Amino acid sequence: MWMRRLTGWLDLFLETRCPLCQRSTRHTLGHDCQTQLQRCHVKTGQQFQHEAMPVVAWGIYGGALKRSLAAFKYDNHPELARPLGQWLGQSWLSSTAAKPSSLVAVPIPLHPSKLKQRGFNQAELLAEIFCNWTNLPLARQGLERTVATTPQFGLSAKDRAENLEGAFDLGVDFRRQVPRKRVILIDDIYTTGATIRTAAEVLRRHQISVYGVAVVAIGQQRPKSPG
Ligand SMILES: [Zn+2]
Repeated sequence: MWMRRLTGWLDLFLETRCPLCQRSTRHTLGHDCQTQLQRCHVKTGQQFQHEAMPVVAWGIYGGALKRSLAAFKYDNHPELARPLGQWLGQSWLSSTAAKPSSLVAVPIPLHPSKLKQRGFNQAELLAEIFCNWTNLPLARQGLERTVATTPQFGLSAKDRAENLEGAFDLGVDFRRQVPRKRVILIDDIYTTGATIRTAAEVLRRHQISVYGVAVVAIGQQRPKSPG
């Protein structure tokens, strides 16, 4: 009896506030917000591509997913990496893209100044959870960001590409030794593909082959691949 009361007490202390609606919850996200998020989930079998590479996306950017990613990055809620990274891992494992086993995950890096300001790299946190879930190895610093670019938000596709020119370089993990495994790039959002293109170019320039991409959210305007 007293044990039950004690557990009840502990549960009370373990309750936190949902970062989206501020209601108290025992999970990272409240029940209603989780339901809303599931509406953003891409349908099974829906596939995306970036220049002949598979892009696995958990959801379509918008609604509750847009709010979650904003809370995650700009409102200091790194704990959101756990559900989002886990869902991304599940999407990866259930997709037809998940076939080759010899892969290494590389998060899209943040510039050190941005990292200092935010306190964490959202792509790295997502990649960490993703790798726990998929059992893929993680090269935390496969890439590095050498130029502090202006935010991509609001820029045209052409400006995004120009903005990113020379923004990445090989990171310390791969400078030491070029991986034999193929790379899967991990990011929070895919919109025009400019970031992925720039990152993949740097890796290929160093004879590192890039297999595919995994992102939590993909932009709505992204044309669907046939089939
Ligand atoms: Zn909520």
